[in-house]
Amino acid sequence: MALIDRILTIIVTATITSAVWIVAGGSLIENASSVSQRERTRPAEAAPSPNAATADRGAEPDTEGSDTPAGTALDSSVTSVPDARSGRELVVPVLNVRPSELTDTFSDSRADGSRLHEAIDIMAPKGTSVVAAGPGEIEKLFESDAGGLTIYVRSPDRRTIHYYAHLDEYAPGLKEGQRVRRGQRLGTVGSSGNASEDAPHLHFAILQTTEEAAWWEPANAVNPYPLLTSR
Ligand SMILES: [Zn+2]
Repeated sequence: MALIDRILTIIVTATITSAVWIVAGGSLIENASSVSQRERTRPAEAAPSPNAATADRGAEPDTEGSDTPAGTALDSSVTSVPDARSGRELVVPVLNVRPSELTDTFSDSRADGSRLHEAIDIMAPKGTSVVAAGPGEIEKLFESDAGGLTIYVRSPDRRTIHYYAHLDEYAPGLKEGQRVRRGQRLGTVGSSGNASEDAPHLHFAILQTTEEAAWWEPANAVNPYPLLTSR
């Protein structure tokens, strides 16, 4: 009898113990997932809304002194916050330029302070290879007064556009609709558009947009500097 009692006690104790662990464990998992959900949504809540300068630029895409793509203001409710994944996979889009050599020029003012630069200028001798910062599809090869020879590369998920400006030349055979891989040669650094002949550079912008939006439609600029340097 005593033995059966003892066995019963053991079984009951074990059952209660595991039940406690199952309940406790379950709520731990629940807590963990709600924490991670909060962390996922927090950046969206903290997303900066487009400022007046951005809106101006969108309204006047071709004002003198502007080397930014046409229309780059978009209600922040429409786009999502930059995906950390897209940043981790970027390479510096000018051959032989190391991340440590970059300067953050994203917040520089342009057009007499009426707007922000919202891109990074990567200085390099004319003729240096421009390479794709990330994979995608050439959506548009466009020549504008300010940007000169430009390239719009759309990410595979269509929500990011990489904009390359002031090129001297496109890579031979480069065409719209072509898929490019990260590091693929797109053209050469130059001073086309409004860039100074004395300071050839690649103007590189990252634009967050929607899958449906066209290349020229408003988009939110994201600072390429931290994405190109944090590795
Ligand atoms: Zn620039």
